[in-house]
Amino acid sequence: MPSINAPRGTRDILPGESWKWSYIINTASKVMKDFGFREIHLPVFEHTELFSRGVGETTDIVEKEMYTFNDRAGRSITLRPEATAGVMRAAIENNLCVQGANAKLWSWGPMFRHERPQKGRYRQFYQIDSECLGIAGPGADVEIISLSIELFRRLGLRNLEVVINSVGCEKCRPVYRQKLVEYFTAHESELCETCKGRLSRNPLRILDCKNESCGRVSDDAPDIFDSLCDECRGHFAQVREGLEQLGFTYTINKRLVRGLDYYTKTAYEILSGDLGAQNAVAGGGRYDNLSQAIGGGKIPGVGFACGLDRVALVMEEQGCTFGEAPGISVYCAALDDESRGMIQSLTYELRKAGISAECDTAGKSFKSQMKIAGACKFACIVGADERMNNTVAVKNLSDGTQVSVPVNEAVKYLEGKI
Ligand code: AMP
Repeated sequence: MPSINAPRGTRDILPGESWKWSYIINTASKVMKDFGFREIHLPVFEHTELFSRGVGETTDIVEKEMYTFNDRAGRSITLRPEATAGVMRAAIENNLCVQGANAKLWSWGPMFRHERPQKGRYRQFYQIDSECLGIAGPGADVEIISLSIELFRRLGLRNLEVVINSVGCEKCRPVYRQKLVEYFTAHESELCETCKGRLSRNPLRILDCKNESCGRVSDDAPDIFDSLCDECRGHFAQVREGLEQLGFTYTINKRLVRGLDYYTKTAYEILSGDLGAQNAVAGGGRYDNLSQAIGGGKIPGVGFACGLDRVALVMEEQGCTFGEAPGISVYCAALDDESRGMIQSLTYELRKAGISAECDTAGKSFKSQMKIAGACKFACIVGADERMNNTVAVKNLSDGTQVSVPVNEAVKYLEGKI
């Protein structure tokens, strides 16, 4: 029978990599705590409507990338392609932002998009996500951007670029949209097939199309800053001022529109020079209308999502450290079969004391056991003599010295050494 492989675009995160992921998540957890964000965990599947209404009917995600199916009761269900809509749904459903309260929340977990797999792009990928709900002022945008920058600083990432833009609001974006439709219609023949389709449905997306010809046309497209209303213009100026006050450098890219419709005002990305085509390690922005789009009251919000797979890739490429590699401190080895029982109970006692310990349970020879012990700090050896005297030979594997210790004192002895 042919063997079964993981579906295309998914991958197994094996022990050689998973401890590095734990390091990234633990670091994120600490940064979030330092910034006053609290952890939440939400379903990985939601009603399809949440994303079609929240992310937007005409976005690439909703049009062609969602994993959508009917459940056994015939309801349309979608594996979450992103986190923000779910966080807002949870805030509305659990009344987290009633009467002007705000909520600073973070989470991490898998997201699902049916995209063409390539380096740094998967169909099941992982995001660390943080959202600040209930605050309309630019200070929250600055806090979110500084949070993402601080996360990468603590992880030791270098060579990053912060790119920001304003995508306007429900008052000024329709005006800009109309200007774009007029401009791009006049250049329709120069657009790629995808962008021809976007012209009537989502003309802003043409601005960040990677196609060369679309890029040339976009170079001369109307400037969003000529259309921004006073409120959006003022908000953007204050975000810039806030970032400068914190000492951050950034660039403005007026063609950064991002792939999700819910963004209003601030949109931003953090790019890595070490990732190739899929160079965004994080992206986010403000979404003041998302709550109402999914049936809630007025809850402004701003947040970001960082691609865990990509962060791990960049850290690997830049030679960043991931803290201490996992390892076993003590290996307990049996010289003969009669000693195996004593070895297993000693191993258990060490583990109970919080000392990582390992022993053979597969019937390996003493020589093979000691080979494995080579990767540990200490070996505890038991043979006929030790059994008779109720002792254990404790060998320090870094300097080769060995002492005999009464069995019931072995844990205490090792606690003092490790
Ligand atoms: P988005 O939700 O599209 O704003 O993406 C936020 C971040 O998630 C990006 O900057 C990437 O780091 C990561 N990301 C998005 N899509 C994928 C994917 N298909 N595979 C891996 N990482 C992704």
